[in-house]
Amino acid sequence: MTIARRQSVAVKIGNVQIGNGAPISIQSMTKTKTTDVIATLEQIQALCRTGCDIVRVAVPDSASADALREIVASSPCPIVADVHYSASLALMALEAGVHGLRLNPGNIERHDDVARIVEKAGQKHIPIRIGVNAGSLARGYRPQVEQGKMGLAEAMVASAREFINHFESMGFRQIKISLKASDILTTVQAYQLLARECRYPFHVGITEAGVGRTGIIKSAVGLGILIFEGFADTIRVSLTGDPCQEVVVAKKILQSLRLATDGPQVISCPTCGRTDIDVENIAVKVEEALAEETMPLKIAIMGCVVNGPGEARDADVGITGGKGVGLVFRKGEIVRKVPEAELVNALLEEVAKVKHEHLQAPRRSRS
Ligand code: SF4
Repeated sequence: MTIARRQSVAVKIGNVQIGNGAPISIQSMTKTKTTDVIATLEQIQALCRTGCDIVRVAVPDSASADALREIVASSPCPIVADVHYSASLALMALEAGVHGLRLNPGNIERHDDVARIVEKAGQKHIPIRIGVNAGSLARGYRPQVEQGKMGLAEAMVASAREFINHFESMGFRQIKISLKASDILTTVQAYQLLARECRYPFHVGITEAGVGRTGIIKSAVGLGILIFEGFADTIRVSLTGDPCQEVVVAKKILQSLRLATDGPQVISCPTCGRTDIDVENIAVKVEEALAEETMPLKIAIMGCVVNGPGEARDADVGITGGKGVGLVFRKGEIVRKVPEAELVNALLEEVAKVKHEHLQAPRRSRS
């Protein structure tokens, strides 16, 4: 089974295509003060190493807008400026060379201010994300929601539609759209409604998902539904804390839906009364050791032989526990037996061999 993605048109944020069948890209946002250029660039570099495709940077004031030029010049990936309330900051960001703009036009008071931004973005061929949040609808919709005359999802879509019409009336179509609420069902409903009437690419996520386990679960459920519905062209997991964690979670969500082919997928058994080795500790060590690995590999860590090599036969490399020892297997075939204390190293050695063989294979076929 594969996921049927919604037909969307493409926009480009720097060298990253979004929409029209491009791989679902991963976005995150820096959490440093943008005026601290060194710290911000360090975080951008860490995000890119973790697998982030596009990084958004907050622009709350003119000093932050001033810092953008240096950040954009040294960033290894495209930069999107996140601007609220101020047309002049959006114009400064565009002048600084950002690759995209995130705007909630509902937060900019005057239509002619929005028009100035759209005009400048059009001249520079810079896409704009119309980012409608449930908490900041276009003027006039909030009272209707509060009076029960309109559902929140409908109001979010009506807000987006109003801005889309305004942008299109100026001939601007480098648009992507996000409709975010912290409630999953409202978010899904909003994307369902908008998907019926436009083909602009969608940036999807569950906003303010929360901290730690709560945020990860909420993001996985919400994004899982949105991706499965085919709505995702680019995604952002919003978590309180280290932004690299957002990227790790986003990658794992895509991997779990067979939409990301880079990086290893570590599966481990839940353990039970038959468990003969410390599966949890081994799995954590293996995940850490392979955190920056980009080769697609399936790695299995199984607690006992009952569900060992046979159950995980499609794993490229796996280990299974025995009494004080463990077996290392490749594609279901046992290749080594080692003491438990040596299992992690033995598994990583087999991973290195698989990588080496993979790298040699094209050379052999060319000769
Ligand atoms: S693989 Fe073995 S130890 Fe792990 S859950 Fe299954 S039966 Fe239990």
